[in-house]
Amino acid sequence: MNATPAIRTASPGRIEFIGNHTDYNGGQVLGVSLNLGVEAEATPREDRQLHFSSDGIAAAFKGSLDELVPQSGELAWANYPLGILKVLLEAGHEVASGCDLHFRSNLPTGAGLSSSAAIELATLEAICQLNGLDLSRKEKVLLAQRAENTFVGVPCGMLDQAVSCFGREDHLVRIDCANTAFETVPLAHGLHFWVFNTNHKHSLVDSMYSRRHAECRKALEILRQADPGLQHLAHARIELLEHLEAGSDIRRRAEHTVLENLRVQQVIQALEAHNLEEVGDLLFASHASSRDLFENSIPELDTLVELLQGLRSHGVIGARLTGGGFGGAVMALTTDRFSSPDAGNVLQLYRHRHPGSEAPTCLHVRTGNGTRRLD
Ligand code: ADP
Ligand code: MG
Repeated sequence: MNATPAIRTASPGRIEFIGNHTDYNGGQVLGVSLNLGVEAEATPREDRQLHFSSDGIAAAFKGSLDELVPQSGELAWANYPLGILKVLLEAGHEVASGCDLHFRSNLPTGAGLSSSAAIELATLEAICQLNGLDLSRKEKVLLAQRAENTFVGVPCGMLDQAVSCFGREDHLVRIDCANTAFETVPLAHGLHFWVFNTNHKHSLVDSMYSRRHAECRKALEILRQADPGLQHLAHARIELLEHLEAGSDIRRRAEHTVLENLRVQQVIQALEAHNLEEVGDLLFASHASSRDLFENSIPELDTLVELLQGLRSHGVIGARLTGGGFGGAVMALTTDRFSSPDAGNVLQLYRHRHPGSEAPTCLHVRTGNGTRRLD
């Protein structure tokens, strides 16, 4: 019998609000934490065993704190909590005993809302609480990112973990990727978010991301010949881009990166000025830039944004592709005037235009709080 009561933690999913592909270029990105996420219930054990289970998943994991090795197949999901334990131990933190962890989630997995970061941070918070570990939020973000990079094997940036960890209701999370700084930015109360997912999975998505990374690296390399002090592509002055061949792919990627980074700053100023129309203009401009300059959109995403842009008088403030692109989802920021029937109309018109594509889905979400202990 274990007398120590269970503790419960939660961490939300997230949407990339604006700052498309700015993260690995040393730029800024704004994310929004959702009112949907993952909850963990943790009970300490007197032995060194680890027992993980999840409401959504049949396969339960049993292992030991002394043997943290990546799992595969139906137990691959356990790599998220295992990875957290691994990086904590590697960083020299003391985890006294094993534990039982049970997860519940109301976040669709693999839908681009970052259920993986939510499960990582809910786990990390639970392990910290069980072991009296006092880590800053920044340390938690970096540990969770390391777990996903090194143990799960996904080379993600820090957006997902930072927004899940620092999130706050009615706020955005601003991440400055050049100096790993995080802050929250107030959002007007009562705004709504809609995620229209094309459910389109581009078969070449990984190689397309690598290509964009390489193009951005190349642009920086060329620009540094003209300005050796330039550290990050996102920080280049727009006049400096003259050094890139006019009309070339690399020039367009660089233009997107620099202008998108400026838009992040402009969105923050427009929010401070309570100018939601300007925020909306910037969101639509971000989409156009991803489509025309970074070229990571697909016709299905463009259709969704175009249909939503036509509904500005029905409560749509702005819309843009969110995440890596080449498939995936569009997010829309709306007032409460935009309703489920309006969203239904968007889906219907979309299906009419793309009869051969996957059926799209739509999720209505609000902002929510970041990683926390419950009760
Ligand atoms: P995303 O983070 O966009 O949702 P990922 O592919 O990065 O997509 O992460 C999804 C994976 O996270 C799932 O395949 C599963 O392994 C794990 N996961 C997410 N939520 C849960 C959950 N509630 N229980 C167990 N595993 C989960
Ligand atoms: Mg993920």
